[in-house]
Amino acid sequence: MNMSEPTQFNTEVLRGELLHDEPMSRHVSWRAGGVAQRVYQPADLADLQVFLQQIPADEPLLAVGLGSNLLVRDGGYRGTVLLMVGALTELRMEDGSIYAQAGVPGAKLARFAASNKLCGAEFFVGIPGTLGGMLAMNAGCYGGETWSAVQRVQVLTRSGVLVERTPQEYDIGYRHVTLKQQNEEFFVAAWLKFGEGDVEAAKRDIKALMEKRSASQPLQMPNAGSVFRNPQGEHAAKLIEGCGLKGKSIGGAQVSEKHANFIVNTGGASAADIENLIGEVQVTVLQKTGINLHPEVKIVGESVK
Ligand SMILES: Cc1cc2nc3c(=O)[nH]c(=O)nc-3n(C[C@H](O)[C@H](O)[C@H](O)COP(=O)(O)OP(=O)(O)OC[C@H]3O[C@@H](n4cnc5c(N)ncnc54)[C@H](O)[C@@H]3O)c2cc1C
Repeated sequence: MNMSEPTQFNTEVLRGELLHDEPMSRHVSWRAGGVAQRVYQPADLADLQVFLQQIPADEPLLAVGLGSNLLVRDGGYRGTVLLMVGALTELRMEDGSIYAQAGVPGAKLARFAASNKLCGAEFFVGIPGTLGGMLAMNAGCYGGETWSAVQRVQVLTRSGVLVERTPQEYDIGYRHVTLKQQNEEFFVAAWLKFGEGDVEAAKRDIKALMEKRSASQPLQMPNAGSVFRNPQGEHAAKLIEGCGLKGKSIGGAQVSEKHANFIVNTGGASAADIENLIGEVQVTVLQKTGINLHPEVKIVGESVK
């Protein structure tokens, strides 16, 4: 693909950073995959708004947080990536709620809540994503889910209009969120409500959750967390392990020996290695158990022909 296809921006009015042909392996936790034609890291919310106002209506756009649930195929992403992490970072108390922008990481949010004597945000500590990604995925663990704390969200439409929405405007489910009235837009912030509680207990829970994760997850190798959604009443990891797939590898991608629902990059994995291994796991589990596993991870971009 021709990655230098020009889209004209008036860069004089922009304060963020516009990168061309940027390897997305730098921005996703699998540390694999192709290049994005353009990546824009805004200086702040107002700057992102100005950038979107300049974007042609047919330009494909992809919001990316910490890329901890994302794979960009080796042929790259033809369009513009909006990089929220390190950009939309405001985090403050506002009328008893937390106002957090989309680029705030989960761990920071959990600690901010605990230090403000709020409980219920501890689970965010183990999710290595941004609030934007967690809103998009309804990320959760240990009984907590992102949207159960959301009072309202702030979004930017693709033409740069700032809108506030309530949870009632979305279909929200397990690792799933869609706007009922279809419209292309991006989460830029949310107001989150948590109850008051024992701050020392919340801090202890945060520490315990971190320890539990490092004991059960292959955190020393690049990965994207759970690859597959848990089927109703089942655990994807148990099904994969039961099919003897732990340690199965294609190229540099391997089903983790430590947690069967994780695929790790053992070094030099291509996006195709990872995607092919995902396909192989799906086929084997379907053949042996009759259960169809659905990926939780998002896969975008073009394959190498
Ligand atoms: C070690 C590890 C452990 C994990 N554990 C968990 C867990 O316990 N529970 C869990 O739910 N997930 C878990 N994950 C997966 C991942 O962290 C979550 O899905 C997280 O919400 C992704 O956030 P992100 O900012 O990295 O999103 P990205 O990976 O950057 O993006 C994910 C999706 O969200 C969209 N998106 C990102 N930002 C925005 C935005 N501002 N507006 C609109 N759309 C947006 C992207 O376009 C993409 O479709 C884990 C991942 C890892 C690597």
